[in-house]
Amino acid sequence: MHNNNKELTLSAPLSGPVLTLAKVPDPVFASGAMGDGIAIDPLNDTLHAPCAGVVIHVARTGHAITLRADNGAELLLHLGLDTVELQGEGFRVLVKEGARVSNGQPLLRYDLDKVAQQCKSLVSLIILTNSQAFQARPITLKSVRVGEPLLHIVARLNNGAQVETEATGIEVRAEVRIAHRGGLHARPAALIRQTAQGFKSKSQLHFAGKSASCNSLIGLMSLAIGEQDQIQVSAQGPDAEAALQALLAALSTALAEDSHAAAPVPVTQRQRPAEAGVLHGVCAAPGLVAGPLFRLNAINLPADAGNHDAEQQLQVLDKALTQVRSEIDGTLIQAKRHKHTDEEAIFAAHLALLEDPALLDAAALSIDQGMAATHAWSHSIDVQCEVLQQLGSTLLAERANDLRDLKQRVLRALLGETWHYDVPAGAIVAADELTPSDLLQLSQQGVAGLCMAEGGATSHVAILARGKGLPCMVALGSALLDQPQGQVVVLDADGGRLELTPSAERLAEVRQAQLDHQQRRARQQAQAHTPALTVDGVHIEIAANVASSLEAADALANGADGVGLLRTEFLFVDRSTAPDEQEQRLAYQAVLDAMGDKSVIIRTIDVGGDKQLDYLPLPVEANPVLGLRGIRLAQARPDILDQQLRALLHVSPLSRCRILLPMVTEVDELLHIRQRLDELCSELGLNQRPELGVMIEVPAAALLAEQLAEHADFLSIGTNDLSQYTLAMDRDHAGLASRVDALHPALLRLIAQTCAGAAVHKRWVGVCGALASDPLATPVLIGLGVSELSVSPVQIGEIKDRVRHLDARQCRSVSRDLLRLSSASAVRHACQQHWPLR
Ligand code: PEP
Ligand code: MG
Repeated sequence: MHNNNKELTLSAPLSGPVLTLAKVPDPVFASGAMGDGIAIDPLNDTLHAPCAGVVIHVARTGHAITLRADNGAELLLHLGLDTVELQGEGFRVLVKEGARVSNGQPLLRYDLDKVAQQCKSLVSLIILTNSQAFQARPITLKSVRVGEPLLHIVARLNNGAQVETEATGIEVRAEVRIAHRGGLHARPAALIRQTAQGFKSKSQLHFAGKSASCNSLIGLMSLAIGEQDQIQVSAQGPDAEAALQALLAALSTALAEDSHAAAPVPVTQRQRPAEAGVLHGVCAAPGLVAGPLFRLNAINLPADAGNHDAEQQLQVLDKALTQVRSEIDGTLIQAKRHKHTDEEAIFAAHLALLEDPALLDAAALSIDQGMAATHAWSHSIDVQCEVLQQLGSTLLAERANDLRDLKQRVLRALLGETWHYDVPAGAIVAADELTPSDLLQLSQQGVAGLCMAEGGATSHVAILARGKGLPCMVALGSALLDQPQGQVVVLDADGGRLELTPSAERLAEVRQAQLDHQQRRARQQAQAHTPALTVDGVHIEIAANVASSLEAADALANGADGVGLLRTEFLFVDRSTAPDEQEQRLAYQAVLDAMGDKSVIIRTIDVGGDKQLDYLPLPVEANPVLGLRGIRLAQARPDILDQQLRALLHVSPLSRCRILLPMVTEVDELLHIRQRLDELCSELGLNQRPELGVMIEVPAAALLAEQLAEHADFLSIGTNDLSQYTLAMDRDHAGLASRVDALHPALLRLIAQTCAGAAVHKRWVGVCGALASDPLATPVLIGLGVSELSVSPVQIGEIKDRVRHLDARQCRSVSRDLLRLSSASAVRHACQQHWPLR
């Protein structure tokens, strides 16, 4: 038989409810060890052929038949569980081995009552026994009748037939144990996909008899790989060995946010005695708030009449997908810019899901059959949600919410609905289940809390809610959705309770607690505009990191003593032509104007390496972060820096503008720019040059701080890069994130050395990396001699408050001891002991 590898749709061989293999009460079938497939709990007494093909095997006891379809897929049709023990009793086979059968032809009759009474279960299986070459994708997980579409069979990209012709290298394989907490759920799966995409070779994961291409997030999740499971990885192609090693490393390194930072808050008990007027749920983000309930509804589609023009519907879907993709891209850029790593990881996974072949192929197939794009997309997502929900893993079931998010977003794009909720500030939003995209929007609208009928504490929405400090409860049950709009409730997420009819006293108590919290924040805000002095009178300047004049205005309103770091890259990236001198001047001036009489530190452009500009072709580098980046760009393109310096020299008043140079490693780089700045000043007839500072971002600069400080006006420590280059760990490596901790004693020693070097020449030292925004680090940095902290604008009040509770002398003596500790976690622990966070 010619194996043409064409896709194939199997029709239901039996009538009855459909189950995923994971739900089959038999460990061998459920594990997928026999192959990928699906099960039906039959209500009829005849097994029909699910497609045309040849009968290649008939079980001696008549309970199972294997067919080979014309595309080469081999299908085991197995009636009931442990039915081999019936020794053929009750079964009548209607075909012979070697016979060709047509789609729907009866193959086997059986005595429904007899078999049901005597065997373990009637649940029957349709198993793809050559799963290494083909993949099975369910079309439905509801009840089916004989002949209805059931399963879509597609050839794997590197299936047996193609391997011989396409493979340009041998296949390499290795085993690995999964380190990711909770197993291979969406974010680790996205990391694996991303890792695999960095290579030309095709890679797959193999587990419990099933395989999935590393290209498909859904395929990877559907393997239901748990934490500590031992799996096989294979790669085939020109760079197979490198791909294999990269994948092994990614699979065996836990994601940072899963290992500690975003650990779910303790789950409150579900099984509690019913309390009148109270719904019990699970705390996903802590807090206690009161407010009116506001119900949000998801889009529900009317029935589809079918018979649509497939070509046109495909185009419509494509357009909607492009729109949503670009929206998510926008979210990603923002998340990156603001260093919201959780948000970035979650939406990166969404982007990968949006390209997933399992979703796109299924939608295209339905469209081919005449379905509208809306319904095809919706159906394709629903099927995959059910697959995830039936895998028996809570974590994976919760990832169905990410798919529903994409369902809603794409539906909105398809229906041309503007996507905006009008939710009053202070409301408690109630929904069946909110999605990550909903949450981002709601948090911007100032809602007080979130509660959901469904959902889980480890879902992405929960992670985001915790990150935004929004109290959130999940799994409250459908009764939540029956509550009247506007009803004032108490959301006690810490206690896992939604109080539907709080008494006046209770409301007063909750509002008081809310008030206390707000007041503490307001107190911090009210004092945010006065200088921050330690209890022994040391002044610490608290400035802000900003990326635009809007953010600068926000920083000033929040009490910033100045701008400690303006990253000028914002002007240069995401555009096709370079900003000219005039545009740059206006942008820098706008930031100065937004800051009243405060000073602004403007860092010269820090692109190159991995941050490429479309209009600035630079050589491709083997190690971009060790290449032409930061101030080194001045070697390759002195004109760009010259233009930026000119623009900076035109702002007024120049006395409020300080210039900062990124990635300096030796004194000559500083001297060169200083000399150029002096020349430009005299060209422009200026008699005063702005202060010039150096970023301490590489160990070389920290070690040479004394020499640099001799010629610089100030030093500013970039702890993000300093961590990366000191610890030799990529600062953006998801798997290493928990270890890239700037409180590592090696970094503290470099910071101490920087401050000591600067002190020789009476220069001040600031910190503008993320460590400055970490309140646990405030006493250490002060203790080591830092006098300026440039933090994210929302944290100014909090960090100033922290400073005011510290004694600089004590900070100095404790910090000296911290230098002798042996790890970042030991430093963190000691900081908690000496300067507990309230
Ligand atoms: C740093 O490296 O700490 C820093 C502030 O610079 P960036 O994060 O822009 O590289
Ligand atoms: Mg840096």
